[in-house]
Amino acid sequence: MAKRTHGINTTCIHAGELEDKEFKGAVSPLYMATSYAFEDVEVKRYPRYFNTPNQVALAKKMAALEHGDAALIFGSGMAAVSTALMAFLHKGDHVVFQNTLYGGTSNLVTEEFDKFGIEYTFTEDSKPSSFEAEIKPNTKVIYIETPSNPLLTVTDIKAVAEISKNHGLVSMIDNTFASPVNQNPIDMGIDVVIHSATKYMGGHSDILAGTVISSEEKIDTIFQLAKNFGGSLSDYTVWLLERSLKTMGIRVRAQNENALELAKSLEKHPDVAQVYYPGLESHPDHDIARKQMSGFGGMMSFELREGLDADLFQKELKLIKSSMSLAGVESTILSPAKTSHGLLSEEEREKQGIRDGLLRFSVGIEEKEDLLEDLEQALEKVRG
Ligand SMILES: *Cc1c(COP(=O)(O)O)cnc(C)c1O
Repeated sequence: MAKRTHGINTTCIHAGELEDKEFKGAVSPLYMATSYAFEDVEVKRYPRYFNTPNQVALAKKMAALEHGDAALIFGSGMAAVSTALMAFLHKGDHVVFQNTLYGGTSNLVTEEFDKFGIEYTFTEDSKPSSFEAEIKPNTKVIYIETPSNPLLTVTDIKAVAEISKNHGLVSMIDNTFASPVNQNPIDMGIDVVIHSATKYMGGHSDILAGTVISSEEKIDTIFQLAKNFGGSLSDYTVWLLERSLKTMGIRVRAQNENALELAKSLEKHPDVAQVYYPGLESHPDHDIARKQMSGFGGMMSFELREGLDADLFQKELKLIKSSMSLAGVESTILSPAKTSHGLLSEEEREKQGIRDGLLRFSVGIEEKEDLLEDLEQALEKVRG
């Protein structure tokens, strides 16, 4: 299934583009219609059927970016996650989830799955053997997320994909944190790749969207449910997302570079106790990251040394804003214990290693010298 015809930036710009046959414009024309005349009795074009010209064009770009055969574009990352999962899970089935999951995905599972009679288990950790240990006779799906939020643990994609194949299961990955620029799980044997396109794909903190990439057959299975769930994306936003994707390669590479430099500087800093970044040799999963990622991404987290007030530090930052989302061209920071992981019990947070003073840093494309200076001036203030 692996397909790679062009380099990343060429794919970002050209894959799936719609030709403006009438005026020869440089960008894809936008077709806003929700009603189309029948081409023949079979083809019914309608936005909720994921088959308008712009939806189909963007899906081709997504498939090319992730080296898959086909894709669907959704109204949010969670629409993509929930539809992809439910398409392969029926009453009485079981699914193995990685222990560290995006908060929304974890809420979907713990708040909704009982209602549908779907069983689930969270792994003990992200080691491949921990996934295999949870497989039962009724298991249908294995679901991973790597690098994970907020400690950037890295799961061995190839090893989990192999376990999944050996047991005849569908393997799924939330590839949001890596983006298709840094990691292409289909090449490593994963069946279904999911992205919150709200993050690196959109990249400017102004689009809510999601996507699922897989084989023709699996995308058709997901589509059969998707048209009933109704989670497609409006064509205007589809068009904006296509525009954003054109610069994804250069944005993400700039974020990789900034994040690696900043992680190295923070690691050496006497006021910083711990830095979690897969690109650092000190990261426990660095070797796996090097094996499966071409860049280490723009996300990291860190803890200040004992006695320094992380809340105050966050407040004193000027360029780097406190903000809920991530992956934009602007740098943002948040406290997972107070926000994204605030719903977990203190005990569960501790088990996952998320301490109260932990800060999750989404590195943007500003000049790294300016970001360092901002971090330094805020540290100076908390030192008092
Ligand atoms: C944001 C996010 C999601 C959910 O995406 P939405 O677009 O907010 O619905 C899923 N997984 C990860 C890793 C995310 O960061």
